[in-house]
Amino acid sequence: MKENLKSLVQLQIVDSQMHDIEIAKGDLPETVNKLTEEVNSLEKYISEKGKALKNAQLERRNVDGLVNLSSEKLKKLQNQLYDVTTNREYDALTTEIETEKNNIEDNENKILELYSFEDDTAKEIETKKKELAKLKKELKEKDSELKKLIKMNQEKENRLLNERENIIVRVNKRLLKNYIRIHKYHKNGLAVVPVSRNACGGCYNTIPPQKLVEIRKMDKVIACEVCGRILVWRDNGSIT
Ligand SMILES: [Zn+2]
Repeated sequence: MKENLKSLVQLQIVDSQMHDIEIAKGDLPETVNKLTEEVNSLEKYISEKGKALKNAQLERRNVDGLVNLSSEKLKKLQNQLYDVTTNREYDALTTEIETEKNNIEDNENKILELYSFEDDTAKEIETKKKELAKLKKELKEKDSELKKLIKMNQEKENRLLNERENIIVRVNKRLLKNYIRIHKYHKNGLAVVPVSRNACGGCYNTIPPQKLVEIRKMDKVIACEVCGRILVWRDNGSIT
């Protein structure tokens, strides 16, 4: 049984390393996906703001043209004032002149509003572009980190799987089944834990002295009464 327990410790060491790889992988792809989404939506936002800016510039030029037309018309109307002969003509002309003056004022206000909108939008685009550059840099870093990790882990994982196969053949089948069951049950992937400071290394429940003596012998499988993990004796109180 002693050899069996020693093999289980070896198996736990290998499985813990595989667990670590899984955890490391589990985090990065999510980060890369999130950053990719953020980059895409920010790019879309910037492009929409760019379109709005262009539209505002076009509209401002149109309104500018309208102001020019009104100004020319106004000049002509004002010149015609010298040629009027009747009061009715005079009244009609002054009404037209008022209308053009109002048009010019309205359009000039519109131009000011458009200028202010263009300014704000251009500033916002600039800020967002800086934000985008930062995000893209972060994405590039995380993406290459992930690719490296995948490549690096491929070799490590293969090596661990090999080691695992070699250990498994040395472990009693019933014990192995038990180990796998406990391993699946605990999220941190710990099925075999050392006694550490007279307590279970998995759940930190204190172990009675009589049981400590038995565990120390390492000649039978003893499980923690609280968490069910297999307890082993390690002089350094650590599994490794
Ligand atoms: Zn425990």
